[in-house]
Amino acid sequence: MKRVVLEKPHRLSYENYGEQVPGPGDVLIEVRACGICGSDVHAYLGKHPFVKYPVTPGHEFSGEVVAAGDDVEPGLLGSRVCVEPSLACGDCPQCRSGRYNICENLRVLGFQADGAMCERITVPRNRIHLLPQGVDFPGGALAEPAAVGIHALARSGVRSGSGILVIGGGVVGLMITRAAKALGCRVTVVENTRERVGRALGFGADEAILFGEEPPGKTGEMPADAGFQAVFECVGKPETMELALRLAPRGSTVVVLGVFSQAVPVQISLVQDGELNVCGTLMYTGEDFKRALDLIAGGVIEPDDFITQTVGLDDVEYGYNMLIDPETPTVKVLVEFGGGNKSDR
Ligand SMILES: [Zn+2]
Ligand SMILES: [Zn+2]
Repeated sequence: MKRVVLEKPHRLSYENYGEQVPGPGDVLIEVRACGICGSDVHAYLGKHPFVKYPVTPGHEFSGEVVAAGDDVEPGLLGSRVCVEPSLACGDCPQCRSGRYNICENLRVLGFQADGAMCERITVPRNRIHLLPQGVDFPGGALAEPAAVGIHALARSGVRSGSGILVIGGGVVGLMITRAAKALGCRVTVVENTRERVGRALGFGADEAILFGEEPPGKTGEMPADAGFQAVFECVGKPETMELALRLAPRGSTVVVLGVFSQAVPVQISLVQDGELNVCGTLMYTGEDFKRALDLIAGGVIEPDDFITQTVGLDDVEYGYNMLIDPETPTVKVLVEFGGGNKSDR
């Protein structure tokens, strides 16, 4: 068996390991698809605040159950599944209240525990979700980033008919866009290049606004009556956090999704004076995962729209570099196992 190891920042290597035997309560999964996430790239670049090196990356994945521990129902063998990559303690106050995504002892596959950029991985049986009919392995691998967007949307409290502003039209921003449209929201996306503005519109945003690189003038002007109920910060940079607070209408909610690697000074008077609700969002729970799979099965989240490149397990570093290179347009780069690998879908 072969797996990728991120030994330390900028150092990816391969390692052979022996066949695993799942223990009680565990299943062994043959990995078939694994997305490369912006947070994987952060870990590779040494910018992820919570990664424990050395580690096998990979937390967005699907595959087939090929073995099961003693007390696991044997009927699961051969099932096509995706995996919620969070390992919670089950014992802390957050776990006991059902919010295990913010477990005090949370470990996530691919960051603090070995992930799925490998041929086979053992996971607890209670972390798997069966893929519904019509959801293929690449679609199953998208359930994780989709669940991130769905959880963020739930945290914001928006309902059908609400207007939302999404700052950053990367994978998660686009997942929020699709899920919010399905909910009946009006979606405005802010991006910093013309190409990404066009892409956000292609993904169904009602409006996409260019900020940044353009000469000052009309671009970057918010409509005065924008009326957003929620603003989603999906980038994780000081300037976009500042933008989120500045563009949030009085009384609205600012949802912080970006992973910040540094402390960010903000104009806190905007929060006080405007009665802004600022809330963080981390990962998801099983309910969000189920909703994600429903949206993928229902065609609201189309794998072919999101997956722009695929690589094999031997070319993971090449996949990372596609995401790092600003000249390569990517949405989701997927590692595909078995069968022919294609560089473009
Ligand atoms: Zn991810
Ligand atoms: Zn816990």
